[in-house]
Amino acid sequence: MDVAELTIVRTATLRDALAQLNQTAQGVILLHNNAGKFERTVTDGDLRRLILNGANLDDTLASLAAGESVILPVGFTRRDALELMRKHAINHLPVIDDDGRVVDLVSRAQIDEQILLSTPHMGNAELEFIDEAFRTNWIAPLGPNVDAFERELAAVVGSSHAVALSSGTAAIHIGLILLGVGEGDVVFCSSLTFAASVNPIVYQGAKPVLIDSEPESWNMSPIALERALEASKREGRLPKAVIIVSLYGQSADMDPLVTLCDEYGVPIVEDAAESLGATYKGSASGTFGKMGIYSFNGNKIITTSGGGMLVTEDKALADRARFLATQARDPAPHYQHSTIGYNYRMSNILAGVGRGQLTVLNDRVAARRAVFDTYKSELADIDWLEWMPEPDWSYSTHWLSVCVVASDNPGIRSSEVISLLSADLIEARPVWKPMHRQPVFQGAQYFPHDNSSVSDYLFENGICLPSGSNMSEGQIERIINRIRSIGR
Ligand SMILES: *Cc1c(COP(=O)(O)O)cnc(C)c1O
Repeated sequence: MDVAELTIVRTATLRDALAQLNQTAQGVILLHNNAGKFERTVTDGDLRRLILNGANLDDTLASLAAGESVILPVGFTRRDALELMRKHAINHLPVIDDDGRVVDLVSRAQIDEQILLSTPHMGNAELEFIDEAFRTNWIAPLGPNVDAFERELAAVVGSSHAVALSSGTAAIHIGLILLGVGEGDVVFCSSLTFAASVNPIVYQGAKPVLIDSEPESWNMSPIALERALEASKREGRLPKAVIIVSLYGQSADMDPLVTLCDEYGVPIVEDAAESLGATYKGSASGTFGKMGIYSFNGNKIITTSGGGMLVTEDKALADRARFLATQARDPAPHYQHSTIGYNYRMSNILAGVGRGQLTVLNDRVAARRAVFDTYKSELADIDWLEWMPEPDWSYSTHWLSVCVVASDNPGIRSSEVISLLSADLIEARPVWKPMHRQPVFQGAQYFPHDNSSVSDYLFENGICLPSGSNMSEGQIERIINRIRSIGR
């Protein structure tokens, strides 16, 4: 709305003011003095009080008290504006420049729009699968949706067996149990990851050894892995497993990593929680290890609200995973157990959500890639921003769009960018804080890529931008414009 249509002067009558309020329908008009400068806001309530005090409709606004109005300065943040609106219980605020002139009138509805990092994005088929589960009363864990979801996911990633579990974390835990990881064992894991990659090592009483990333893919460095394997061989304590994480929708450089692990005879668990839908040299991320795991947590590329999947080529491992995840019941008519089990299976309802989501996986990947491409091309001339590289062997889903503020840039730090975005109700986050810097894993051995630590650099300078497949073009534009306005 043009602010000129909202301005009124003291020589106008109450009738004029009411008509203008009625016509502009913003709930507020803006009183200006003779010099054209903003004096105060005028609402229905202000006019009502004048009438109750004896004014009539043909009187002017001359008797309106001077009054201090709440205003916004040019360059206000959405957070400041919302705070003022909440505090004063109002829905509109005029924006006043240094000369006292109105440049805009902002409404709560217009600015109260938070853009989140990554939100669930449902398709059309999920409800049908859930409905069927209700109709057939398959509400229990396990059931036809679980079986079908396992088959369908295995087909999508080209794996022989898939086991639906309650979370990605549970899938990693079961994976380590299947590999016999126990008290006092050592397990290697990427350091640049979410804590859920490492926690299951500790559940088993084993010790994590943390491996740095390499700059090409931001995932596990073959150079650091080789040094770690050599060192552990010298100590006569080879790891029981290596957990290779594929971050932000991009596979690790699997060939050299697999070669090294084969050479030392150490099995791989691929943590592909963030990279379902990605490929490495044409094959699905998550299918290169002895086992791979995916997550369907609410923020992942597809979701069951909470859930996970373990994939493997080995039928015996898949059968054993199902057995352990359903309380390890021996085949007997009574309840008999000869090993410790877990309640880690996925429910038939949630598997229905997963089946629906799986049908739109390709669309979600395309949408997230497009978000990344838009950021990258629209912000190409911002020379203090560098984008997560995508090596030519990688097809990344760009689950999250990630960039770094170049360390040789004098002007601005990534933390400042994140807080400026946050003040504008745009949720951006730092890159994962590496596990070797987490208080809980203090003392764990760490192997950097070379003289400098790549994961530390990425953590200190990286920014994850909102990346949801359900973001509107307007939202993406808002983020781009905000980053642009930071300048420098
Ligand atoms: C999300 C995530 C997990 C854990 O998955 P949940 O389903 O949330 O338990 C594990 N590793 C990585 C890298 C993740 O991003």
